[in-house]
Amino acid sequence: MAEPLYYLSAGEMSDALQRRELSAAELSEAHFDRIAEVEDEVGAYLSVTTNLAIDQARAADARLAAGTAAPLTGVPMQLKDNLNVRGTATTCASRMLETYVAPYDATAAAALTGAGAVLLGKGNMDEFAMGSSTENSALGVTRNPWDRERVPGGSSGGPAAAVAAGEAAFALGSDTGGSIRQPAAFCGVVGLKPTYGLVSRYGLVAFASSLDQIGPMTRTVRDCAIVLNAIAGHDPKDSTSIPAPAPDYTARLDAGVEGMRIGVVRDYFGEGIAPEAARAAREAIGSLESMGAQVDWEASLPNSRAALAVYYIIAPSECSANLARYDGVKYGYSDTEADGLWAALEATRREGFGAEVKRRILLGAYALSAGYYDAYYLKALQVRTIIRREFAEAFERYDLLATPSTPTPAFKLGEKTADPVAMHASDVCNVPVNIAGIPAVSVPCGFVDGLPVGLQLMGPHLSESALLQAAYAYEQSTPWRDEHPPL
Ligand code: GLN
Repeated sequence: MAEPLYYLSAGEMSDALQRRELSAAELSEAHFDRIAEVEDEVGAYLSVTTNLAIDQARAADARLAAGTAAPLTGVPMQLKDNLNVRGTATTCASRMLETYVAPYDATAAAALTGAGAVLLGKGNMDEFAMGSSTENSALGVTRNPWDRERVPGGSSGGPAAAVAAGEAAFALGSDTGGSIRQPAAFCGVVGLKPTYGLVSRYGLVAFASSLDQIGPMTRTVRDCAIVLNAIAGHDPKDSTSIPAPAPDYTARLDAGVEGMRIGVVRDYFGEGIAPEAARAAREAIGSLESMGAQVDWEASLPNSRAALAVYYIIAPSECSANLARYDGVKYGYSDTEADGLWAALEATRREGFGAEVKRRILLGAYALSAGYYDAYYLKALQVRTIIRREFAEAFERYDLLATPSTPTPAFKLGEKTADPVAMHASDVCNVPVNIAGIPAVSVPCGFVDGLPVGLQLMGPHLSESALLQAAYAYEQSTPWRDEHPPL
């Protein structure tokens, strides 16, 4: 049986649109039908922007007819709900921003709509991107399309579930400590965390500014390269944006892995990692080896274990500063009943933020406070330098490093909500990458008891082309991208 339209890759959709075998209007219609069909079970969207999508699809069809289309013209997407799109809600899945309407576009969102991509709506997430299961959303539940008793991962759980379920051709997520790669692995899709500074953060609601990056979530590696092409590049509106032109990430996709030096980080295959997840990752690396990669199975990054502790000082510290702006005055939720300025401020923040966000703000304010700054925040920055250096040294010996994407496949809804430390630990494979500012991709590498698991490949700064090249070589040797959830 031919694939339904909504399971074509974004690249295939684009080809069909350019050949005029399909119109953008038909394609977005097919997605709205799919959303109507499965959204009750999945819950990937916080808002569906039907009218905007109809207008954008019409404009895309005009562009296709005029022969001025770009690679993503007419292709339907979802954006995580912490990315601003002018005139649409940006809630961050928080009561605090439940009624907030963005007055401007995020640069990455504008790059995509400027290329003619069609916005279907905004994706559910953990509140302010803090979490690993999307259960911290104050505005809805997202279920894993492969098993609706399980979480989709987080914090970009909506985008991952939408892409896996055919409710969008691709999505953008944000990754501060694994929030693209972990849900991508849990939902069986491809997720890339770019080099810090490659994609502009302008218009992304800030969580931890030295770690946050926007990246693609797609069903294929080629789609990941196509979307990255659209969003990478210098932006004067983000002072941390890298002032260099981005290459064409599709150019070297099929160059293979012959001679590529891959280090298998043995520290990520032991304690705390489910043997089946480790086995699936090892098998994937074995196939890269059989395709000609030079694999060292005993690479080690002993200090990167400290990254999780460092992350849970640095991320909350930056979060406590960034979230100080939600004071009930400038924008967002406001408790207007309270008596006096301080009472109103306290009531607004007490009622507007959920438990995990409050926990992070408290942790951060504590780590930054006068008596503890040196012991916690400063120490974390010092260990961050050690971790960065350890990665830099490893990349003198290896082109890429490989690990499982996550310690386990998707866990059950409710399984970890009472244990924040266990929840935090589910990003142990991912956070070192953000601490070091390097890029990493998660690519599906099979199933454990019917649930998808992923292989994570990490590379030095600006090695996205090599990462995608290796991920593509692996993907092409497997049937995983043709598997879809039982919906
Ligand atoms: N799960 C991690 C956290 O809760 C990472 C979140 C993210 O990458 N946005 O902070």
